Order: sequence, then structure tokens, then C-alpha cells
Amino acid sequence: MTIHMPTLLITFLVVCVTLMFAVACVARRDTDDGLSDWAWGLALNTVAIVLWAMRGRAPDFLTVVVANTAQAGAYTLFLTALARLQRWSVPPGAVWLPLLAAAGTSLLLESNLQARIVACGLVLVAQQALILYACLHPTHSAIGRGRHLLALAFGILILVSLMRVAGLISGLAIIRDITQNSAVQITLLYAMLVALILGSSGFVLMVKEYADEQARLAAKKDALTGVWNRTHLEEVAQHEINRRQRYGHPVALIMADIDHFKRLNDTFGHATGDRVLKQFCLVLGNCVRSSDVLARWGGEEFLLLLPNSDLASAAQLAERVRSALAAWCFPEGCAVSASFGVTACQQNETWEHWLHRSDMALYRAKAAGRDRVETEALEKGPGAMGATAAGEGAAV
Ligand code: GH3
Ligand code: MG
Ligand code: MG
Repeated sequence: MTIHMPTLLITFLVVCVTLMFAVACVARRDTDDGLSDWAWGLALNTVAIVLWAMRGRAPDFLTVVVANTAQAGAYTLFLTALARLQRWSVPPGAVWLPLLAAAGTSLLLESNLQARIVACGLVLVAQQALILYACLHPTHSAIGRGRHLLALAFGILILVSLMRVAGLISGLAIIRDITQNSAVQITLLYAMLVALILGSSGFVLMVKEYADEQARLAAKKDALTGVWNRTHLEEVAQHEINRRQRYGHPVALIMADIDHFKRLNDTFGHATGDRVLKQFCLVLGNCVRSSDVLARWGGEEFLLLLPNSDLASAAQLAERVRSALAAWCFPEGCAVSASFGVTACQQNETWEHWLHRSDMALYRAKAAGRDRVETEALEKGPGAMGATAAGEGAAV
């Protein structure tokens, strides 16, 4: 079977333009997900292919210098798209250096075809390797299956580029000219075509997976304060209760309720009340460990779930939060305090029962005058309601 090289190049072009339109159509102006950069990258890739295909029929400046720079620009845009999606910024050097290197080597080595193709090929390999590295970097790996397609695509592109460079260095003239009808050249072009399709579908899949992940996360977060909501807290609490029953790992709960919050709203308005709620969460967040779970239970009531914490350390933490609230400068200079009910999960206790005990402890803190910590001693067994008053100056 013989393959008509111009037909293959046109197929390559049609696929590239179709992918560009498809990606541009799904890109949204108001979303910073990198799809627009990817579409522009595909546009530059199309320009590069058109110019390469015109080699011998158009001035060398266009088919060599501009074509190579366009290809380097396409990879820069692919990297920018990936960085935008993964929320990191591309260093300026990684944007401009490859463009300058591709244009510079094409110009300076114009008379030496072999050296020029090798130098440009190495610039492109460096860019492809950077994209592959960004794909596989563990701290950027939040998005799964699409990332693997993208990595596979750039793995193929690196292989193709290295084979071209190696072929040229070892004197394989048949892979010099992209328009040459040779089995090697056709295989390389097919590999590039496959990589383009894999890479673009991989990137679109990554964007979708990222959007899904954000939606999943949003369903577990409180919209106003950004802390977890009760759905997530209950999930984690059940998991921690199971660990407590199976392995005996202690787990504690602090229920916090802002004192006289209605009065604060009535005095300063709901907007100030909302800002106070956000800063309240900030203060609590500053006091806890990354493994602790802070959630808004409703209104001005919050829960802190503390894995691997016993009652005494949970009560100490509640006291620290109380002091941090007293020291914090809240909006409008208003003084904000809270009352705390602290409990530790007991053997064979259900979530509902544990939560009820915490609520009762909080109720006692309110009844005792607010701005205090009320704990419940473990030794009294499941359902025991005896309390150790804490608060100002009280032992915890
Ligand atoms: P206590 O010390 O007994 O807890 O008194 P309180 O005023 O804090 O409690 P109460 O239950 O009487 O009032 C809670 C108030 O919290 C009433 C409600 O308008 C307000 N609130 C609930 N959610 C929000 C919110 O998202 N934003 C604002 N600004 N206020 C809220
Ligand atoms: Mg309150
Ligand atoms: Mg309340």
C-alpha cells in the first residue's frame, strides 16, 4: 500500500483545524481553564504544518524560520494552558526562550540544514519534555485520566522528535524533509497526528475532570465561609467513629456558637455579620491542625472534629480558640465571643448521641453565662451528662 504524502498532510491539517474549532467552541470566556490557550496552540500548530508543507515552494524564511517559531509557540501555548488549569504560572523564561531559540537557530544555521534541524528539534524536545514533566509532577496531579492521555501524547511527540534528530545525526536523509514520501516519514507523521488527537482529547478531559472535582468540592463546602458543611463533617465523623470502635483511636468534638450574634446583626447589619462569620472561621482555622475538620453546622454554629485528640487536649484547644477570638480585631471593632461544648466519642456511641452530648455541653456553657468552654468527663460512660465547667479561669 502506498500513501499519498500530500493527502496525508491535508488529513493532518483537517484534523488540526477540526480540533482547534472543537476546543475553541467549548472554551468559555468566563472560565480560566486553559481551553482558549489550547485552541490558540492548535491554531499555531496548523500554521506550522501549512508552512512546512510549502517547503521548496515558498521562501525558506517562511517555511523554516516562521514555521519552527510557530511550532515552538504552539508548545508554549500548550504549556500555558496546562499551567492555567493546574493553577501555577509558567516562568517567563519558559515562554520566551524557546521562541527565541527556535527563531535564532533557524536564522543563524540557515545554511547548514542538518545542524538547523537538529538544533530546532532539540528546542522542541525540551518544550515537550517540560509539558510532560508538568503533566506528571505529583503536586499538579489532581486530575487523573485526562492527564495520562496528555502524558502519553507528549511521550510520543518526544520519541518522534528524538528519532528525527537521531536520524539526521546518523545521516538518514529520508527524514530531513517532512514532505518526503518515505515509510519513516509517514510513520512519524502518523505518530504526530495520533499525539495531537490524544493530547487534545486528554486536555479537554482534564478540564472536565477538574470542573467535576470543583463541583464535588463545592457540594461539601459552605458557600459563605468556605469551611466544610455538615454533609462532609458527618461523613468524616462516621469514619472517625468507626476507627474509634475498631482501633480505639480517640476522637473529640467541639461545638462552638457565637454569643449574641443576633444582637451583632441588629446593631451592625447582616453584611457585617457575614464578615464576622468569615473571620470567625479564619480564627478557628488558624488554631487547628490540618487533620482537624472545621464545619459550619448552621447559622452561627460551628463544629470542630478532632481526630486523635482526647477530651483534655480538645478542651485546651477550645480555650485557645476562645483567647484567639478575644485578641482578634473583628469588623467595626465589635467584640466577638463564643461558647463551646467539648466532648470525646465514647465506645459504641452513635453520631446522633455524641452530637446531642456536645449540644448539651454547649447549652450549659450558654446557661453559665457564655464566653466559656464546657467539657464532659469521659469516665461517666455513654450518655453521661455530668459536666466540668471551664470558661474564664476554670481548669480544663
Ligand atoms: P446566643 O448567644 O444564645 O447564641 O444568641 P444568638 O443571638 O447568637 O443566637 P440566636 O439563635 O438568637 O441568633 C442567631 C442569629 O444568627 C440569627 C440569625 O439571623 C443569624 N444568622 C444565621 N445565619 C446567618 C448568616 O449567614 N449571616 C448573618 N449575618 N447572620 C446569620
Ligand atoms: Mg449564637
Ligand atoms: Mg445558635
